[in-house]
Amino acid sequence: MEPPPEESLAERVHDVLSKIRRAAEKAGRRPDSIGLIAVSKTVSVARMQEGIDAGLTTFGENRLQEAVLKIAALRETAVRWHFIGHLQRRKVKPVIGVFDLVHSVDSIELAEEINHRASEAGMRQEVLLEVNIANEPTKAGFAGEDVVGVIPAMGILQHIRIKGLMTIPPLSSDAEQARPYFSQLRQIAARIANLAVPSVSMNELSMGMSNDYEVAIEEGATLVRVGTGIFGARYV
Ligand SMILES: *Cc1c(COP(=O)(O)O)cnc(C)c1O
Repeated sequence: MEPPPEESLAERVHDVLSKIRRAAEKAGRRPDSIGLIAVSKTVSVARMQEGIDAGLTTFGENRLQEAVLKIAALRETAVRWHFIGHLQRRKVKPVIGVFDLVHSVDSIELAEEINHRASEAGMRQEVLLEVNIANEPTKAGFAGEDVVGVIPAMGILQHIRIKGLMTIPPLSSDAEQARPYFSQLRQIAARIANLAVPSVSMNELSMGMSNDYEVAIEEGATLVRVGTGIFGARYV
């Protein structure tokens, strides 16, 4: 949903944060159990700085080249970075340790490469597994019925820590259309948690964007990814 153009960026940030709080309260959840990822793809560094001044703490970027430039430009700030886009295996290295969380691990091969590069860097990279919840042919991610099965193979990778799941449901202007998909993602996470694989936790559910983050929170989201609702429409 696009915010009214006359609203300032600070007003939009406060508006989104208060909607998150209200949705949490409505669902009987603690508002501080939900993190706002401000999706800043295509947004200028100056606007991002404005957002930081208004209270944003975490940015989500989906293109590595763009992200690397912004991270360098904003290195004096305490802001955190999440990678939310499709990640190619040959581009893993610059991601390691730079992004606090990679939302978009969509294959075992990618998980293995992240594990390998994190091992070289002597650290452990936190990731989410992306689930293509409606099995859309155009979308990346594990099929809902497959993701549970890959967990044992992922669990042996010592240099990644799987923190939960991420999904992008089919596009719809009606947020209620997304509710069953959000609910399904929560149920898949519960099945994975039941496997009790040591290095795999299911504490994070990254779901909900500008259109539907309040519904996602009602269905258990712990990370919502909001772009347009904060920065306005993207023209590129
Ligand atoms: C662009 C993007 C978003 C934000 O979408 P809005 O509708 O602008 O809030 C969230 N998640 C991912 C993975 C994206 O690529």
